[in-house]
Amino acid sequence: MYKKYFPYFKNSKNIYLDTAATAQKPSIVLDAINEYYTQYCSNTHRSNFGDANRATTEFEHTRELLKNCIKAKESKEIIFTKGVTESLNLVASSFVKDRFDTVIISSLEHHSNIVPWHMQERSLHKGLEVVNCDEDLTFDMEHFENLLIQNPNSFVSITHVSNAFGKLHPLKNIIQTAHKYGALVMIDGAQSLPHFNIDMQDIEADFYTISGHKTYGPTGVGALYVKAKHLEKLRPYQTGGATIKDVSYDKTVLLDSPFKFEAGTQNIAGIIGFGKAIEFLQNIEYKNIINYENEIYEYLYEKLGEIKDVIFYTDSINSIGSLSFNIKGLMAEDLGILLDKMKISIRTGHHCAQPIMKKLGINGTARVSLAIYNDKNDIDIFIKGLKRAIKILKD
Ligand code: PLP
Repeated sequence: MYKKYFPYFKNSKNIYLDTAATAQKPSIVLDAINEYYTQYCSNTHRSNFGDANRATTEFEHTRELLKNCIKAKESKEIIFTKGVTESLNLVASSFVKDRFDTVIISSLEHHSNIVPWHMQERSLHKGLEVVNCDEDLTFDMEHFENLLIQNPNSFVSITHVSNAFGKLHPLKNIIQTAHKYGALVMIDGAQSLPHFNIDMQDIEADFYTISGHKTYGPTGVGALYVKAKHLEKLRPYQTGGATIKDVSYDKTVLLDSPFKFEAGTQNIAGIIGFGKAIEFLQNIEYKNIINYENEIYEYLYEKLGEIKDVIFYTDSINSIGSLSFNIKGLMAEDLGILLDKMKISIRTGHHCAQPIMKKLGINGTARVSLAIYNDKNDIDIFIKGLKRAIKILKD
């Protein structure tokens, strides 16, 4: 139903089931990028002529759209970055380092919410704590609360949705509990916005990281939401053009947020394109996206469940977007190779989440990740292909 908005599907016969890695882009995003480069390509926030002013206006329009979309209070709370990886690293290096004794993460983190903490010489029980999960990957609230009690000066950094398994964390409860013990919270939102709306006033996160390219926008674009009261303490980790109010050889006076965090020429076309992706989602409306995706996710879960020897790691109720599985006795990679030959694109492996794979005693999984452009026909073709692959590998 939504495929028609995405040129990729006119040019490719692939059944694309890897949106958790990156989403396809609708025409309005691609057209906006083309329009910027062909009709008003100029730098933003510097020159003062027609095209440059238009570029600045369009760029800032994306900030407003994102601010309204996630219900941030002020524009200065939205900082553009290259993506979630950069947003997480910015907060890790410019806010958390040297300020917090302990960082608490969940068992389901992407490497980009693990490695930055290792780079600060933190390791398990030495400045880094990991909240347990039970066998269906449910976040252990009791363990979390104990960790907060045992580690009074903690910073909590937790994914909203697991990219490897699609598991949804009970975010409001996590944030309220953390705040009860005086801990601040950063959320890795890489897998959220493509699937459901988020409301900063409702969840009360201190930091929330957003990926453009997983939200139907271009690659190389993302954002960091910072609650206004923390902006003063967040230091820019790089500076340069466009970040300054005044420079002499003695000193620099930086601009206020967000500009002091956006050094150098930004990914202008990408950010303008990201704005169109947000408009695209708003036109479809999140309630329709949620209903539609729930329906196809359930369908996928049901059809996969009918396959002999399938191993699931989560239930379908508290999961969204991605579904990970294995077939007993087979390597996920082999399934992926055979499916690729049938022009079915899924992802296999550890999904940049090696620690949880190790904990589960597996090398990885086969992961199907869905988006609004997928339909039941895609799932039927995938299931047929999977059955064929299983037969080839088992015979
Ligand atoms: N966190 C999660 C949960 C992800 O799924 C990803 C990408 O796969 C990232 C972080 C990194 O995001 P980005 O590609 O925007 O840097």
